[in-house]
This record gives sequence, structure tokens and C-alpha cells, in this order.
Amino acid sequence: MQDQAGVVVSTVSQAWRAQRVVIAVPPLLARQIRFTPQLPVAQAQLLERAQMGKIIKSVSVYPEAFWRKSGLSGGLNADMGAVAVTLDASPRGGSPGVLVALTGGRRAEQLARLSTDTRRAVIQERLRTLFGPQAARPVAYHDYAWADDPWAQGGYAAHFPTGALSRSGAGLGASFERLHWAGTETADAWRSYMEGALQSAERAATEVLGSKHHEHTSVHPNVEINKRREKVWGG
Ligand SMILES: Cc1cc2nc3c(=O)[nH]c(=O)nc-3n(C[C@H](O)[C@H](O)[C@H](O)COP(=O)(O)OP(=O)(O)OC[C@H]3O[C@@H](n4cnc5c(N)ncnc54)[C@H](O)[C@@H]3O)c2cc1C
Repeated sequence: MQDQAGVVVSTVSQAWRAQRVVIAVPPLLARQIRFTPQLPVAQAQLLERAQMGKIIKSVSVYPEAFWRKSGLSGGLNADMGAVAVTLDASPRGGSPGVLVALTGGRRAEQLARLSTDTRRAVIQERLRTLFGPQAARPVAYHDYAWADDPWAQGGYAAHFPTGALSRSGAGLGASFERLHWAGTETADAWRSYMEGALQSAERAATEVLGSKHHEHTSVHPNVEINKRREKVWGG
């Protein structure tokens, strides 16, 4: 809840008072927050239209990066099968060998429906086809279906229906009085990546610092941010 005096953030067990709040949770989580007063309609609608990408990341550990001996980099992109991307995540010396595999989209949805053991078997069978029999015998294996994580609900990031971002995408990160937005989805560049998250954090921090020194002025001191806000919300 925000008013002239500040912001109150309430959870089921506690409440905090602040002058400014930065919301840095993914859009699917942000739309579960109740805002008083309500968010601008266009911003609320963008949050409603967000969908989270689906991704499963698996890590297979071997005594050594055996693929290097065959002259393979360990990295590939595949447009079919249970594994879409692999990366050699081993230390420079190649021991232990660590092969990361990523599966996204519909294939990730299918894999997420399997039991953990079956999913492991399917991914390792695919790695065996791609890298040879040693790939099916890791000494350790872990995977994680990010759509099942209640605080992420998917990954790499949220995506939007065609046209939604080009029409009003900048509004996602537009501050609303004392509320400021960060998170990779609100970035101007490298959206969906770490770099986008960092860029958005710098922008949100600049907004808050600017407003702190000018708490009693109605015009935001950051000219660039004001220009963007005017463009998005019409002033
Ligand atoms: C499998 C996978 C691989 C990736 N690989 C790469 C890569 O190689 N390079 C790259 O640049 N990017 C990669 N990414 C993307 C990168 O992780 C994200 O772009 C980045 O983490 C986004 O940062 P963020 O701060 O916007 O959101 P997040 O990192 O999602 O942080 C949001 C935080 O908010 C918390 N939260 C959620 N809801 C609430 C709530 N109600 N109250 C309090 N806290 C809450 C969450 O627990 C989380 O800690 C990958 C993502 C995935 C899933």
C-alpha cells in the first residue's frame, strides 16, 4: 500500500514501512502481489500476459572430461531429442568432468512430467547417443525443473505474446509513484539474462537515489527516466 507518506509492504506475518520499494521478482510472482492503489492498467495487463519459459537444467559429473580426448568441446545445440544444449562446465584441467545439459520449451514440459529417475534415464540415454557410452555413467547427476520452483515458476525468464512488448513493453519497468521495478524482464538490453538483471538493478537504484534527494519534488530528477515514463504513460 502506498500513499503520500510512504509505502507499507505487508506479508501474512509482518509489515514494513519504507519510502520507496523496488520489486525485483519475476512478473508471474509480481502479479500475485496486491497493490493499493492498483497498478496502472497497462502495466497490470502486461504482468497478466507474461508467461514463463520452461527449462530443465541437468548436471552430469564424470571422473574427467572424457569428451575432450576425442577432440570434442562438449558444447552442442540440437533441435531434436531430450537435450537441446550442452556445455562443458568442467574446471580448466578437466577433472572432474562436468557436462551441463539444458532442455527448454515443450520438451522441458514433457520431461517435467516424468519421475526423477525416468527423466534422468532419458537425459542420459540422449547424452550417450551424443557423446558415447561413458556419458551414460556419471558418478553424480542432478537436475532441476525450474517450472516446479514456486519462487521462479520457470526460466530463463518471462516472455510475452507477439506485439505486447513492442506496444508497451517499456511500461514493465516504469516506476509507479513509490514503486520501482527491477528484474531481467524490465531491462532494455539482455532481457532474460544476468546482464539484463544487473542493468535493471542499476536503473532502479538510480531512480531511488534520485527520488531520495528530491523526495519533495513532483518531477523525477532523472531526465532520461522521466522521458521514458512520459513516453510510456503519457506524462
Ligand atoms: C536453468 C537456467 C540457466 C540460465 N543460464 C543463464 C546463463 O548462462 N547466462 C545468463 O546470463 N542467464 C542465465 N539464466 C537466466 C538468469 O538466471 C536470469 O536472467 C536472472 O537470474 C534473472 O535475475 P532476476 O533478478 O531478474 O530474477 P531471479 O534471479 O529470478 O530473482 C528473483 C528472486 O525473487 C525471489 N522471489 C520470488 N517471489 C518472491 C516473493 N513473493 N517474495 C520474495 N522474494 C521472491 C526469488 O526467490 C528469486 O530469488 C538462466 C536461467 C535458468 C533458469
